[in-house]
Amino acid sequence: MRGSQPAVVDLHLHTIFSDGLFTPEELVIRAEQTGFTAIAITDHDSVEGIERARVQGKRLGVEVVPGVELSSNVNGTDVHILGYYIDYRSPAVQEFFTRVREFRLQRAERMVNKLNELAGGRWRVSFERVKEIAGAGAVGRPHVAQALVEAGGVASMSEAFEKYIGYDGPAYFPKLRLTPAEVIERIHQAGGLAVIAHPATYGNDGLVYLVIAAGVDGIEVWHPEHNQRAVDHYLELAQKNRLLVTGGSDCHGGRKFGRVYLGDIRLPYQYLMALKRRAKKC
Ligand SMILES: [Zn+2]
Ligand SMILES: [Zn+2]
Repeated sequence: MRGSQPAVVDLHLHTIFSDGLFTPEELVIRAEQTGFTAIAITDHDSVEGIERARVQGKRLGVEVVPGVELSSNVNGTDVHILGYYIDYRSPAVQEFFTRVREFRLQRAERMVNKLNELAGGRWRVSFERVKEIAGAGAVGRPHVAQALVEAGGVASMSEAFEKYIGYDGPAYFPKLRLTPAEVIERIHQAGGLAVIAHPATYGNDGLVYLVIAAGVDGIEVWHPEHNQRAVDHYLELAQKNRLLVTGGSDCHGGRKFGRVYLGDIRLPYQYLMALKRRAKKC
């Protein structure tokens, strides 16, 4: 804790290892400058940024909570589940993430092949270029869309989604589909706690009840896309079900996603304390 400032935390942050703009080191530096006592690194399908953030955190006195954000699927809707304090160094956990990434690569390659088939010679998207655009992050549809724009297939990223790789598009291939129960089980097997991310964004509390029934440990109550009503509602739901409550900015690094900045959500340290107690980390 620094000076007389209250200890605050942000438990939902992305780095370049998913779709964020900051390296783990940059993120920790900014967190320190913004006055955070602790932050969680929660990249999509990746635990690669955690160790680097922890090393930097030790230097600057910022506690780094190991986390991840996984996608589950319920009847075509993506439901995100955060995993905290997973044993990110264990070979079984590493292997799981390698498999998820490989699936993403195969999916992107399938979309590229389909796009080139549909092109009939009018353009040629290179899979190498798609991987290059993705950089250290997980390959996804936005990278395929950008490569298609560059190849001259469409004029804009949104046109790429509308015509080809949107859910109903001819070059769309589905993501790896895991149920919430499967994702929660994965997180538990890895020694972690599972928290449903930004529940208000699904617009369907039926999904939230389903995830609670599937054995989730907590609810992300504070998120930039949650208004006060949503906060009150999910706080009550968590209390009723004796679940942990968490919150975070879901910051991807500022400009890229425009609206959200580090510091937008400042959660009192007591919530992290409760999480740690449940994870037996203190
Ligand atoms: Zn999410
Ligand atoms: Zn996120």
